[in-house]
Amino acid sequence: MGFVNAYLLQAGDGYILVDTGISDVWTKLESELLSRGALPERLKLVILTHGDMDHSGNCKKLQQKYGVNIAIHQGDLDMVTTGKPRRRSANTLTGRIMTWMASKISDASGSFEPNLYLEDGQSLQEFGHDATVIHTPGHTAGSIVILTAEGDLIVGDTVSNRRKPKTADLFEDESELKTSLSILRGLNAKIVYPGHGKPFPFDQFPN
Ligand SMILES: [Zn+2]
Repeated sequence: MGFVNAYLLQAGDGYILVDTGISDVWTKLESELLSRGALPERLKLVILTHGDMDHSGNCKKLQQKYGVNIAIHQGDLDMVTTGKPRRRSANTLTGRIMTWMASKISDASGSFEPNLYLEDGQSLQEFGHDATVIHTPGHTAGSIVILTAEGDLIVGDTVSNRRKPKTADLFEDESELKTSLSILRGLNAKIVYPGHGKPFPFDQFPN
């Protein structure tokens, strides 16, 4: 979805969408989901890797127009109900520029109430996909990743791959981020699917 990824998982006879992109890509997102048969009614769930509006920008429309349930970790609840970004620290120049830009964006028009809350260790089996949610705070307090039984690891913004695989250069809590990253490094995964940039092999997971 432009500079932000959204991932569509097959879930039995339906689908789970992970992240939704910014609100500007609504038409593109909707037509992709319609053409794949996920809409109007086979989209069982939207899971947000975290509450930033570049990932949650189309939740309100999916909820209102198609009655799709949205799931998020409680730690990022206020971000999506208010549309206000959280203060973040950055350890790179790009990160500092992004923090400054993000602080200017407050989009209350896209705010919504989630339908479900995700917890650490939660299985997605009840939604038809053999995968587990892992709570990985750091980038935001409510950041999560999804590890599928096939070894696909969807990481949101905890790791990016803009030019090369890189740990989050924006974070709310650096020590929590480090703990989360060390948990991820210990997983048995095959491919990493970041929120920004192309998927990459797990053995290239950044240090
Ligand atoms: Zn992002």
